[in-house]
Amino acid sequence: MNQPDRDALAAPGPLLLQPDAVLLPEGPADGWAVVIGDGRFESVGPAHELERAHPLLRPVRLPGHLLMPGFVDAHHHLTQSFGAALAFGEPSEIFRRVWVPLEGALDEESAYTAAKLAALEALRGGFTTVADAGTRAGVDVDVVASAARDAGIRCVLGLVCNDADSGDEASHPAVLENAEKHLARYAGDPLVHASLAVSIPEAATEGTLRATARLAAEAGAVVQIHVNEHLAGVERSLVRHGVRPLEHLHRIGALGPQLLAAHATLLTPRELTLLADTGTAVSYNPVASAWKGNAVAPATAMAERGIRFGLGTDGTRGDGFRLAEAAEFAQRLAYGLGTGDSSCGAGWTWLEHAHSGGADAVGLGARTGTIAQGMAADFLLVDVDTPELALSWDLPWELVRRGNRDQITAVYVAGRLRLWKGLPTDWDGPALVRRAAELARAAVGRADVTRVHPTSTVARALHRSGERSTQQ
Ligand SMILES: [Zn+2]
Repeated sequence: MNQPDRDALAAPGPLLLQPDAVLLPEGPADGWAVVIGDGRFESVGPAHELERAHPLLRPVRLPGHLLMPGFVDAHHHLTQSFGAALAFGEPSEIFRRVWVPLEGALDEESAYTAAKLAALEALRGGFTTVADAGTRAGVDVDVVASAARDAGIRCVLGLVCNDADSGDEASHPAVLENAEKHLARYAGDPLVHASLAVSIPEAATEGTLRATARLAAEAGAVVQIHVNEHLAGVERSLVRHGVRPLEHLHRIGALGPQLLAAHATLLTPRELTLLADTGTAVSYNPVASAWKGNAVAPATAMAERGIRFGLGTDGTRGDGFRLAEAAEFAQRLAYGLGTGDSSCGAGWTWLEHAHSGGADAVGLGARTGTIAQGMAADFLLVDVDTPELALSWDLPWELVRRGNRDQITAVYVAGRLRLWKGLPTDWDGPALVRRAAELARAAVGRADVTRVHPTSTVARALHRSGERSTQQ
């Protein structure tokens, strides 16, 4: 296997990088190179042209490597990382029984450590951007911003604006004041981008849903709301408002390009039209559907209708290649098999929505997600000289189906080498993981978490002893 020069890659730029190929929106460009400097791609083009244009830069050759955009996780909960496996095998509405109690048990150190752990897992999985849907831990959201910044990942940072508990129909002035402050707080930050969040439409007053949509649109930010995720949520909205959650948001004027609707798994044809007509974006979260969902979002149909969407992990696992594969796999099982659609997005659909589609959905389409001049230098160096990828016939589709985290040699965010072979370059990743394991045990011990199902090991014992119920 080829070994690029780590020290040359970690040098402060500008850098002229010469991989075997650069993954452009049109497909892989063999023999292309990039110049990065000041956190951005200064030039992207054929290597010989870039060498001529930059005679003073010594090219860093990267044989056997593909330079491709970093993945964008369009839906995450960074401060839930201590409990990822607590949700395994659980029925759908785990936020009540697992996430709210767990996040409520975090103090400042544990919230910071949980978020940084999630950021490290994301970077290892090839994500250069994560959208955090707003922590419910009782700490300043800046704790999460610091964790993302210190880890070296780009973060769209949601501030939770729930105010339906106030009992009024009018919005709560303090909530909107905080929202405005939050939107201004990270102006000019190279890695943190402010966003607003409402847990579910019923969690905020109609006034606040309208006002957050307006504030975010004015600021060029997004509002993240879990929409049409579970049958229980759809039913709650029907009982309360007489319409489904997405229809409710439309009725009060909260749909639009500023909305990032998380999940949107249960969509009627009418709701697909609402998404398309309003330019609303969706985070399609296929692994969340498999692990705790009621349905799979109709993403192939969304792509056909021009609906904007990215791919999100929802904190399930921070692995970009497995997410892209899950996106295809879930469409195939839920829709493609039944209709004989054996192309089912032709591979590229899922790769593109894993980076540039995601960047667009989280409001950063002009900044990241694509290898192009002027864009932030958020990218991966992927070793394609491996048994899995070396005999290449169709690289984009191969990346979706055969790509893997262990092929990511290097992760760059904002032009800086952040990860080398799975380890952070300028901070102690293993020490953070050890501290997280200690703090997670304490936090889960304090939290009033209720699980419906036993662990896998206990389920096996019950199975073997003949005490099987339908749940094991
Ligand atoms: Zn979520």
